[in-house]
Amino acid sequence: MDFELTEEQQAIRDLARDFAQKEIAPIAAQIDETGEFPSATVKKMGELGLMGIEVPQEYGGAGLDTLAYVLAIEEIAKVCASHAVIMSVNNSLYCYGLTHFATDAQKKKFLEPCASGKKIGAFSLTEPQSGSDAGNMKVRATLNAQGDQYVINGRKSWITSGPVADFIVLFAATQPELKHRGTACFVVDTTLPGFERGKKEPKLGIRASATCETTYDNYRLPVFHRIGKEGDGFKIAMSVLDAGRIGIAAQALGIAAAAYEASVAYSKEREAFGSKIAEFQAIQWMIADMATRIEASRLLIYNAALKKNSHEKFSREAAMAKLHASETAMWVTTKAIQIHGGIGYSKELPIERYFRDAKITEIYEGTSEIQRLVIARAALEGK
Ligand SMILES: Cc1cc2nc3c(=O)[nH]c(=O)nc-3n(C[C@H](O)[C@H](O)[C@H](O)COP(=O)(O)OP(=O)(O)OC[C@H]3O[C@@H](n4cnc5c(N)ncnc54)[C@H](O)[C@@H]3O)c2cc1C
Repeated sequence: MDFELTEEQQAIRDLARDFAQKEIAPIAAQIDETGEFPSATVKKMGELGLMGIEVPQEYGGAGLDTLAYVLAIEEIAKVCASHAVIMSVNNSLYCYGLTHFATDAQKKKFLEPCASGKKIGAFSLTEPQSGSDAGNMKVRATLNAQGDQYVINGRKSWITSGPVADFIVLFAATQPELKHRGTACFVVDTTLPGFERGKKEPKLGIRASATCETTYDNYRLPVFHRIGKEGDGFKIAMSVLDAGRIGIAAQALGIAAAAYEASVAYSKEREAFGSKIAEFQAIQWMIADMATRIEASRLLIYNAALKKNSHEKFSREAAMAKLHASETAMWVTTKAIQIHGGIGYSKELPIERYFRDAKITEIYEGTSEIQRLVIARAALEGK
């Protein structure tokens, strides 16, 4: 494994770091408190090329690789996990699928506006009765008698950026009797009639990322909006999620790194019993374990990114990276509060926000149990 960064990778990391520190840091606590979607900074992320990092330049993206993408996400997540997930969903869950499965004409219409950050894309697989068991979907897409339009009906839940999305990659059943083999992937234009957004979900963390349900009531979509063939839906969704998991792992890494850096600094300032708390072995051991878990997460993430860059199979590596990084984020942020004592529990400092933000990384884009399932299948069945 060669992790020596290219000039382009260093440049995007530095750009993301600079932008996060100058433009996102001043509003991060406030938008966590209010839950306001940060439209202005998201627009600027688009202008800087952060919303379509891996998309070829001809379709509005920055044309960089997966390592560049994870470096940028980590820097944004260090400052604000809400911005990181908005970025990750647009980059991975929306743009990745279109980059790999859409036709040239579809890319021009649906990919270019979101990769360039002019519009926002979302991804809609989950339904009220099916999250981990995603093949059990009830949203139905029926081709009309003329064969030129699908009529879509049903309800989808938990759509990140759903309240603001211009386009949504949607998965629906075209032949429900075939279960996951009877599904298709569509790009929803949220301005067409029959599409409605539900109320914004109140959440524990990533509070400035907007999440909602959506309903489709005889929503009509031209066949041009179908990505791939009927029957390809589940395959596309799983492939997109494999790629997305590397982004969520990088988000988790950023949250953990922020909590770790704050803990190291605080332990060298805070005094108890006449010593800096960093001099207590109990604190040192927490810091050592934090550093080790973060470093292990980083190596797993870079490994998954490099496998993806070199077009090797990377499902197992992406699952390992997400599993380890998300559980590290949860563990490190818990210990960061411990190291800070009472002030760590207060909204005076961002430590409690890191802790609340970390939890979601163990849930979305496949829970930790689902990641273990993927890894175990690879180990036992060679998949
Ligand atoms: C803030 C937020 C944003 C989200 N954004 C999106 C989005 O943009 N698009 C989208 O489509 N979805 C999104 N989701 C949905 C998310 O991906 C699901 O919540 C997640 O996959 C888990 O599904 P579930 O909530 O239905 O839980 P369930 O699947 O009901 O799981 C409940 C529990 O059972 C466990 N479990 C389930 N099956 C197994 C099994 N086979 N073996 C062992 N344990 C199992 C789970 O790990 C979990 O602990 C979002 C969710 C949240 C909370």
